Amino acid sequence: MPQQAAQLPFAASFHNLGLRTRVVLCQLPLFSCMLVVAAVFALAEPAMFGKPWFQLCLLLHGVLLAACAIVPWERLPVRSFQIVPVLDFALIALLMHAVGQAYSGLALLLVFPVIWLSVSVLKSRILISFAGSLLAAVMPLLEGWALDAGHLLRLVLLPAVMLAISISVHIVANSMDSQRDQIAAKEAEVRRLLAASREREQLLHAVVDSIDVGLVALDADGRVTLANRQQEAFAVRAGGKEAAPDLQQERQRIYDGDGVTFLPPADRPVRRAAAKQEVAGQLLWLGEEPQQIAVSATARKIDGQDEDCPSGSVVLFKDVTDQLAELAAKDDFMSGISHELRTPLTSILAYLDLALEHPDLPADVTAQLEVADRNAERLLTLISDFLSASAGTLEIRLEPADLAAVVHASVQSAAATAAAKDIALDNQVDHELVSAADPARMGQVLDNLLSNAIKYSPAGSTVTIRGWQHAGHSILEVADTGYGMDDADRLRVFDRFFRSSSARRSGIHGTGLGLVVAKEIIERHGGTIDVSSALGEGTTFTVTLPAAAPQPRAANDGDARVQVDRSPSA
Ligand code: ADP
Repeated sequence: MPQQAAQLPFAASFHNLGLRTRVVLCQLPLFSCMLVVAAVFALAEPAMFGKPWFQLCLLLHGVLLAACAIVPWERLPVRSFQIVPVLDFALIALLMHAVGQAYSGLALLLVFPVIWLSVSVLKSRILISFAGSLLAAVMPLLEGWALDAGHLLRLVLLPAVMLAISISVHIVANSMDSQRDQIAAKEAEVRRLLAASREREQLLHAVVDSIDVGLVALDADGRVTLANRQQEAFAVRAGGKEAAPDLQQERQRIYDGDGVTFLPPADRPVRRAAAKQEVAGQLLWLGEEPQQIAVSATARKIDGQDEDCPSGSVVLFKDVTDQLAELAAKDDFMSGISHELRTPLTSILAYLDLALEHPDLPADVTAQLEVADRNAERLLTLISDFLSASAGTLEIRLEPADLAAVVHASVQSAAATAAAKDIALDNQVDHELVSAADPARMGQVLDNLLSNAIKYSPAGSTVTIRGWQHAGHSILEVADTGYGMDDADRLRVFDRFFRSSSARRSGIHGTGLGLVVAKEIIERHGGTIDVSSALGEGTTFTVTLPAAAPQPRAANDGDARVQVDRSPSA
């Protein structure tokens, strides 16, 4: 490990040496000491060189060092070199025998083979160290032995001290070994985790690159940390001939939902996400005609808990060009058919009215004509809904209007139906609520909300209408205590032709278009309509209108929320 190498540079480089060099280096301290001993004797007691045991001892030391350097230890059985410190004991014992009791201090040389053996993995190293030391202690006594304190101390103390050194070195070496093992295990674990995290990262990249939705991840400072291939393709399309895709959407050619209004950089999804805003289905057009494509953008915040999961945002871009084209084709078809049906139906209604005005009609014929007239009227309403639901057919004429009066009129016309079902209408809007609104269209919205509240409530329940003004907005609320909806149904109530499963099962008449038209009308006013509901408890629709007139909207603008955001009062 580099850290270990930094702490023990010598140890690290020692282990990198060849086996023979290492054996020589281990033997060298003892050999060097022997040279010093020989030099001292040469100066102080040259007669020592005349002793054959001393000569043999010096010769064998030299031979052993040479053997350390020559023997190919790596080719011999593992750890054969451990024979060298064992032989060192024999050589020191020979030296002790040669120099005699007068130089018993030379027994200190035993420290070298004792330490070498103690750090080795030889099984009986402590026993060998003890036996070798005992041998070296006994050798000088061979000259003459007496049972006195000096002899006894020499005999006992030297092996005991060497035994203690051997045990201590052994313990220290063991603990260093276990530390090294732990470090090596940790290193292996870190390497394994790193490899696993690299694998996960590659998998993540492969997955995000394989989806056909553009994805951009931002960190807490709004910097792009990840963008998939699809998003780069979108950026290239919106950036024209730029060399590198502009993932921050600073220079891209991006247009609003109408496809022609240039979208200021601050209103672009990546910039909004970087400013910690959430984006829900913002409709954008990327690039220029005829290659322009429509994308729906969504941004979600990630509230990071710790370093493993840092804060930031994820922005998704979905190509909705084909869906928009399909919707436009469907709208064209629906409005074409509706127009075709409305003309003859208007004529039928006119003739029915004329016929009903005839004074001499028998009572039963009048009753039959009235049924035909009612049904034709219903058919006309239905066709009007179809037409209104097709984009671009609604006309809104804004004027200062008292919404309280609109509510009052709607409550009055719903009163008969409510009474027939034994449902109470509680109108709590008892003061003026002036807003810039089209009273006829707002009446249409309230008629629909009230008729739904009555339709989807059991007999004996109450429908409450409330209204108030807050922060430059007029707010109307229609609340019932009826059947209610679960979350899945609630989220789809503004979808075309949607009818909840309970509404379909109960056989209550409906087309699933009323709320689509209501939403369209409210959004053309620059307002919003929301619903909250609980199954079995009731439903509340809340309409919020800006008190001042909103910016005029293009007929084919698909993103009402953006318009509301930009209105001066919002
Ligand atoms: P319609 O009532 O003609 O079916 P709408 O667009 O007005 O169409 O409503 C769509 C669906 O929303 C209804 O079919 C019904 O399932 C559900 N819904 C609307 N208003 C309520 C309400 N007040 N309580 C329960 N469900 C409702």
